[in-house]
Amino acid sequence: MSKVKSSNLGYPRIGEKREWKKALEQFWSKKLSEEAFLKRIKELRLSYLEKQKNSGIDLIPIGDFSLYDHILDTSVLFGFIPERFHHQNGAVSLDTYFSIARGNSNAVASEMTKWFNTNYHYIVPEINAGTTPYITENRLLNLYLEAKKELNIDGKPVIVGPVTLLKLSKGFEKKDFPNLLRALIPLYIEVFTDLQTAGATWVQVDEPILSTTLDKKELGYFKETYEAFHQAVPNLNLLLQTYFESVDHYQDVAALPVQGIGLDFVYDDGANLASLEKYGFPEDKVLAAGVVDGRNIWRTDLDEALQQVNDLLHFVDQERLWIQPSCSLQHVPVTVRQESELEPVLKNAISFADEKLKEVVALVKGVNEGRDAILEEIKESNEAIQALNHSSHRNIDSIKKEIQSLGDDMPKRPLPFSERQAIQEKKWKLPLLPTTTIGSLPQTKEIRSARQKWRKGEWTESQYEQFIQQNIAKWIKIQEDLDIDVLVHGEFERNDMVEYFGEKLRGFAFTRFAWVQSYGSRCVKPPIIFGDVDLEAPMTVKESTYAQSLTTRPVKGMLTGPVTIYNWSFVRNDISQFDVFKQIALALKKEIHALEENDIRMIQVDEPAIREGLPLKEEKKGKYLHDAVYAFRLATSYVDHSTQIHTHMCYSEFDEIIDAIDQLDADVISIEAARSHGEIISTFEDHEYDKGIGLGVYDIHSPRIPSVEEIKTSIERALRVIDPKLFWINPDCGLKTRKPEETIPALKNLVQATKEVREKH
Ligand code: GLN
Ligand code: ZN
Repeated sequence: MSKVKSSNLGYPRIGEKREWKKALEQFWSKKLSEEAFLKRIKELRLSYLEKQKNSGIDLIPIGDFSLYDHILDTSVLFGFIPERFHHQNGAVSLDTYFSIARGNSNAVASEMTKWFNTNYHYIVPEINAGTTPYITENRLLNLYLEAKKELNIDGKPVIVGPVTLLKLSKGFEKKDFPNLLRALIPLYIEVFTDLQTAGATWVQVDEPILSTTLDKKELGYFKETYEAFHQAVPNLNLLLQTYFESVDHYQDVAALPVQGIGLDFVYDDGANLASLEKYGFPEDKVLAAGVVDGRNIWRTDLDEALQQVNDLLHFVDQERLWIQPSCSLQHVPVTVRQESELEPVLKNAISFADEKLKEVVALVKGVNEGRDAILEEIKESNEAIQALNHSSHRNIDSIKKEIQSLGDDMPKRPLPFSERQAIQEKKWKLPLLPTTTIGSLPQTKEIRSARQKWRKGEWTESQYEQFIQQNIAKWIKIQEDLDIDVLVHGEFERNDMVEYFGEKLRGFAFTRFAWVQSYGSRCVKPPIIFGDVDLEAPMTVKESTYAQSLTTRPVKGMLTGPVTIYNWSFVRNDISQFDVFKQIALALKKEIHALEENDIRMIQVDEPAIREGLPLKEEKKGKYLHDAVYAFRLATSYVDHSTQIHTHMCYSEFDEIIDAIDQLDADVISIEAARSHGEIISTFEDHEYDKGIGLGVYDIHSPRIPSVEEIKTSIERALRVIDPKLFWINPDCGLKTRKPEETIPALKNLVQATKEVREKH
């Protein structure tokens, strides 16, 4: 009898010890020859496949592996190579491939942006109306054959589907979409045909765009595309894979002529199951059911999941059901095994990629052989989850009470901005167009190595503290000499704007090796919010008050906001997002109170990640933004009228969130604008934004030192639409990645430009 199968959608490419990252960086810095690099990469690629095979996965993804990014791979496969890289037909060299991703001395890199609502960044395909796609080299076929030959794995090739690919691309107008799609369809067919000829039976076509809100026309593209595929390769099984949310137009999707449909049953808020209940599931298709959370790190409750799978069997026969993670495992770290330093109660409740595959296999066994066959696993998972839930970490009564006592009403500063403004003007007596920076100042090698020494115990606490103070003092003096109006202490004590706070707050844990790819070879190690969050002791008062003691100019206190802390962590899922927001916000509220008590009364609460958490579905955006605004205001509203709350964000797409930004009710917002001036200004102008605003007047991402003239132009442009009384002058973002010799002259020009503009007003 045929049985339920196990499947995987994608596996982390970075390696248990970031071997992949190391190989890439050695190759880039020419410490590895191309041959040695490719050999090393092949070993890694095969080892990942072998691992999946050994864990008992039936359908192993092929082609999810990448040398940089799988969207870039797809662009390159179809010849979407921007002209500035001068590619001639045929296979794309490594040099060209990496140049698109990273730029070279003659051509700038392609843009990168966030992959849906994850923290992974993909390289945005650049296509223009005149681009004629063609196949450079069928890499998917090569990889399929490699797995077969080397490991005897008959894999499931994975490719991003054409509608999603085009929707994520830029450089052409909407009206050219259908033509480009029609040019792409035959190329996909060519790839599919090759795969079929080579023996492939299933191909996974990822169309996560189906999880966003689509209109009828866009749905029509799916019909056209998949009907064409079906006609051309009727005997190849295509699995149309969705993830990160429910599919919006279930009936239309279910009717597409594909042989399988992959649905996310973890992040769908029950909507996918509801669709099955309402409309059933087509009898001739495979249901690939994502029941193991593919993007958060918590252990699956196997009993619950098994129940869920059994429920699905009401809609589909055993032989047409696959069990799999809800999305590619590239969004979680590789394995928990190495985390020897985590507290057992936490470690036991965590599951990374390798552990998730085991869960998938256990579930399949549980369905095929009956629950008793996996009793041991069920018991273990249940006990681990219960133990964490009942541990003291998740049961701090005082926090529960505090959260319960909060009303539904939006926290609010007692006076509206216009009245606060008058009070603050009197208190602060700042010149017109005040100058400031975003917070961090150059993190030199010296600073990073001092922190290492302190962490390793080679330096005492007080040695390190003294060193930090010296840096603060040095830079307070520099800022005064530059004649900047509102100073910062420089964030020298911080490694990272979330980790720093996580390490001081209760409820956070840190791993040793739990890295995930952010973009290219860059990996991040997000903190884990696993318990109730609380402030144990002030986190920033020491550095801020020290800095303030050295100068009569105001020094801004500097905090990371609740939403950003949330969005850049792995977060517990036993309580709601809103409750975690509130817990973090309450801790920050206490910190802000402590700062005020110590006479730090300009306080910046950074929220660069608000936009990232925006849900994919239109109807869910409102609640998220409400909760985000609530959290920010819970942290920042309970201050004196004269206390000036600043916030900072750094991205250019404000359209969808401008109302929410306004509702934050911060006295001053500083935002990135140097690279997209017109756009941002018009968003704020159209919105009639009427609080303090600092538009970044120079791009900190480049070592280039902006001239006085350039900065003046950019200030004057902004002043055409923004009230000078509300306008602040600052760089785009923090300066921690810049060198002192870049920072000082740039700031000097910024101050000079400001002074020249002031004279005219
Ligand atoms: N205050 C932080 C800094 O200057 C803000 C960083 C950010 O926006 N990402 O580094
Ligand atoms: Zn920033």
